Amino acid sequence: MTNVVIFGAPGSGKGTQSELIIKKYGLDHISTGDVLRAEIKNKTELGKIAEGYISDGKLVPDELIIDMLASVLDSKKDSKGVIFDGFPRTIPQGQALDKMLKERGTEVQVVLSLEVDDAELVDRLLKRGQISGRADDNLETIKSRLEVYHGQTSPLKQYYVEQGKLAAIKGTGTIEEIFERITKAIK
Ligand code: AMP
Repeated sequence: MTNVVIFGAPGSGKGTQSELIIKKYGLDHISTGDVLRAEIKNKTELGKIAEGYISDGKLVPDELIIDMLASVLDSKKDSKGVIFDGFPRTIPQGQALDKMLKERGTEVQVVLSLEVDDAELVDRLLKRGQISGRADDNLETIKSRLEVYHGQTSPLKQYYVEQGKLAAIKGTGTIEEIFERITKAIK
């Protein structure tokens, strides 16, 4: 299996670039944000718990996310590979992913880290908010999500540097330019 983690702050382009990667490499996509939004729409127990965290711009607790990820992963057993989008977001999630993949005889091959500065992220997310209808694309929640990213998520970069898996990708320019950088890093 080819397992890719696409990593970056909210608004860094993870979803957009994931779509292009899936088309080119035939990978399955697991976006924990998308899974949670579907749980909320279907009014499941998990959805009811997740809703408050998401609208506050906070992370859903690790145990819930890790259990959710394990069951999604089991539904992709015959997959050629997976692109993980929005997961892991904390060191314990990163450790849990390593363990889960190891138990399935595979591992993360590369972590693509999309690098975009905060001013541009805020700008992109506010613009997205005008069309996405997402409850968390408003200025107050965006600020909280960026704080969470810098405090809890970005330390994962060092975790993957130590494993020799981190590829830093300049996340500005056209969608095609960024994708070109990604394909080079995957090679
Ligand atoms: P995203 O669509 O990836 O931007 O995620 C939207 C929101 O869902 C985040 O701000 C979190 O509240 C929640 N979420 C998504 N993925 C995770 C995760 N791996 N761990 C904790 N919370 C998550």
